[in-house]
Amino acid sequence: MALPVVAIVGRPNVGKSTLLNRIVGRREAIVEEKPGVTRDRKEVEADWQGREFLVVDTGGWLAGGSSVGDEMLDARVSLQAERAMAQADVVLLVVDVTVGVTEEDDRVANMLRRAKTPTLLVVNKVDGDTRDADVWAFASLGLGDPHPVSALHGRLTGDMLDALVAHLPDDHHQEPEQATPTAPAVSIVGRPNVGKSTLFNRLIGDERSVVHDMPGTTRDAIDTMVDTPDGPIRFVDTAGMRRKSRVDEPAEYYSLVRALQAIDRADAAVLVIDATEGVTHQDQRLAERIDAAGSPIVVLLNKWELLDAEQRADVRDQVEDRLAFLGYAPVLKGSALTGKGVHKLLPALREAIEAYHRRVPTRELNLLLQAAQSAHPAPSRVLYATQGATDPPTFTLFANRPLPATYLRYLERRIREHFDFGPTPLKLRVRRRSG
Ligand code: GDP
Ligand code: GDP
Repeated sequence: MALPVVAIVGRPNVGKSTLLNRIVGRREAIVEEKPGVTRDRKEVEADWQGREFLVVDTGGWLAGGSSVGDEMLDARVSLQAERAMAQADVVLLVVDVTVGVTEEDDRVANMLRRAKTPTLLVVNKVDGDTRDADVWAFASLGLGDPHPVSALHGRLTGDMLDALVAHLPDDHHQEPEQATPTAPAVSIVGRPNVGKSTLFNRLIGDERSVVHDMPGTTRDAIDTMVDTPDGPIRFVDTAGMRRKSRVDEPAEYYSLVRALQAIDRADAAVLVIDATEGVTHQDQRLAERIDAAGSPIVVLLNKWELLDAEQRADVRDQVEDRLAFLGYAPVLKGSALTGKGVHKLLPALREAIEAYHRRVPTRELNLLLQAAQSAHPAPSRVLYATQGATDPPTFTLFANRPLPATYLRYLERRIREHFDFGPTPLKLRVRRRSG
């Protein structure tokens, strides 16, 4: 049974090893480096009040020197923190009361806050009656109340461990209780009469799915959960799509408002376009709106079976011309009425949604960028990069000077290809760092 993992992070010399030994107590003898884990990383079993857990000293954080420069330091900080965040149930961020809040403390605290991993702020070296004010100065890190301890003398470490145990996952014995996967939300949008309802009913039929209605989050919107072989999908605002004959056809304006609301609630959108009418201005507006929401988009050129070869070529041209900004979005051609081509829709959606939530390893990202830059050097240089967020995947590139737009697109393409991001929108931000 896997034990909950507690990671200790912090600058060099704040007392991480001392704290680790203090937590492990008399059992120092069993402190050992397990083979197979990174060389500079210690994992030790510990327990407090009958709760067992694994303490990990992520170590390896820039041994003392500052000569490596700011940007390297940043990269190391993020590597260490990310590793800890990825693997830990609780993080102990150790800071040094005799030094006060440093910029590095601040950076790590930022990352931990964003990652939302439960974090305990441990203020070490509070050996005697250190002034409260010195301890509370660390509250500025935004990680809750500071826990003062003296790792060296064992002062108040019990109180800190009480707090730590309270943060451990409830009971690790009833662990990864297959959390019901949250169904991705998908909106089907398009102008009236392009074939949205036909498509939706076709998708339900194809999947032979168990379907049930559930109230949408906005008033009078009804969502439909559809079980597909690869898991459930929640189709957003399907109220009008389930029944074939609708008495009062909503006005175009009203349906647009609905579409915009649906887009905002969805993880991905299917934009249905009536190919017999080509790519209209209204289609373009909807596509822009989905793009602006940062959601992945799959385009279906519907009623494709009604077009002859020449018309098809025309529509293809229009897509390239008027939807160029969608870049990598898949454009499917099909017929909701006959079902031809529609089977590709769900796999395309799933792929887009999966990529949308994906986080890539920092190290691999940096190796890739180094290789891409050696292959095509530019006057400016990306020193390192991190993925700050998912949904959509967002990367911060730290460069010694501004990057030309074309070069940025080149790097984006390399990231997209290497990590198989497919049609998902990516965001790249460039920040200056002296190199
Ligand atoms: P690490 O680099 O974060 O692992 O830090 P260490 O555990 O190696 O400790 C760095 C130095 O701080 C050592 O000289 C420790 O003896 C000292 N130290 C650690 N904890 C305390 C403490 O609570 N009080 C005082 N005064 N010194 C401490
Ligand atoms: P909605 O308003 O976007 O939901 O559009 P509907 O699904 O109600 O479809 C509007 C009309 O287009 C209906 O008469 C459908 O039968 C027809 N339709 C939908 N998809 C196709 C298609 O792929 N080919 C053809 N020929 N007609 C279609």
